Amino acid sequence: MRALLAAGLLLSACASAPPRAATVERRVMSMGTSLEIEVEAADRAAALAASERALEALEAAEARLSTWREGTELARLNQAPAGEPQKLSPALARDLAAVRSCWEETAGAFDPAVGALVRAWGLRAGGRRPDEAERRAAVAAGDFAALRLEDGGIAVRERADLVLEEGGWGKGAGLADALSALERAGAARASLDLGGQVAVLGRGWTVPVADPRCRDRSVAELSIDGGSVSTSGNSERGIVVEGERLGHILDPRTGAPAPDFGSLTVWTADPLRADCLSTGLYVLGPDWALAWAKAHPGVEVLVLETEGDRLRALASPGLRGRLKSLDPEMEIEFEP
Ligand code: ADP
Ligand code: MG
Repeated sequence: MRALLAAGLLLSACASAPPRAATVERRVMSMGTSLEIEVEAADRAAALAASERALEALEAAEARLSTWREGTELARLNQAPAGEPQKLSPALARDLAAVRSCWEETAGAFDPAVGALVRAWGLRAGGRRPDEAERRAAVAAGDFAALRLEDGGIAVRERADLVLEEGGWGKGAGLADALSALERAGAARASLDLGGQVAVLGRGWTVPVADPRCRDRSVAELSIDGGSVSTSGNSERGIVVEGERLGHILDPRTGAPAPDFGSLTVWTADPLRADCLSTGLYVLGPDWALAWAKAHPGVEVLVLETEGDRLRALASPGLRGRLKSLDPEMEIEFEP
């Protein structure tokens, strides 16, 4: 009887309270990797519906951009005859314009046309070492300038050997669309972690940064107010060819894997740009990357360099007050 009374009291107290925001957390597979999504909205149904809209946006991005399967719009563009104008969907035209500007601003270090090099090094097939002629041919083919983008969403492949590859930007494109979908669906706050790249809506999120030598261990924490955090590095993704570990980030200028110094993390508003820039700035190397960030307000960079069995952390000035080391051996040095 007492319990019933207490329950009744509780119910009436709940009934008179204002409706409380609800948070939904889900973990699913998306874009070939794991996705953790957390959405806060007016109530549970709204949060769940918003999370569904985000998943649909990621699925649509994969159906448009994956070159791991045939028939997606990007895979079809790779098959289109050279010289023939191709009409793109508005979404792909927008994606390609965005990656073009990252290609330009990294002076080609980020190159969405790296597909021929990815094939030459067998990065999707266990790895192999191309001979000199093959490597030179792949460098020549990997030139995004050979994709002409015209007004009205028209693309023309100007080389028959041009192979566009979404590995360095597909996740970012998906996350950008997912964030927009969450906003449209009325989510108050949200966070998405897609295979290590994080995108958030709202202020006051903490993002862990992994040890480049061992991804399961976090060595730093980054506090962000919106935007996306993307890390590029070779940890655990290096491929061993003839006894030598090869990185999966290639320098389009030399056609060789970029030197492995550790990892590079970018925080910026647009998830697509964060994805492109972490790859491109990794290729340019720590010094260039930090100088680049200084010259580009709105882009912050954290470099983790392996030095023997220690880690060195170098951060752009805008990360001051936002970064915490979780490794007593690692102090964070901020650029002046
Ligand atoms: P992750 O896949 O862990 O997010 P990145 O975002 O750095 O890592 O992307 C690496 C992938 O991008 C490679 O596996 C390859 O598919 C592609 N890639 C490699 N080098 C380049 C480059 N210089 N520019 C653009 N894409 C690249
Ligand atoms: Mg990435």
